[in-house]
Amino acid sequence: MNRIVLERSIPSPANPPEGCKFHTRCSKCMECCKHVAPKQKEIEPGHYVVCHLYDDVPEVSAAPVAAAQDAE
Ligand code: SF4
Repeated sequence: MNRIVLERSIPSPANPPEGCKFHTRCSKCMECCKHVAPKQKEIEPGHYVVCHLYDDVPEVSAAPVAAAQDAE
């Protein structure tokens, strides 16, 4: 496993930065991260992300999983 060493100081929780709260320390920060907070997205059943890197990944719906479990 590759370790990622975060650089720079932790933003103040009392005065968090605009956009993604991690953007001042993220090595993958994009321009949108500085201005728009990412939304939570379920990318696999029970696996959630809050990151613009997953903006183009389709969200799974809990409905088909629940329907499949009901059919069993
Ligand atoms: S949204 Fe994702 S890529 Fe952007 S700064 Fe936050 S953690 Fe990094």
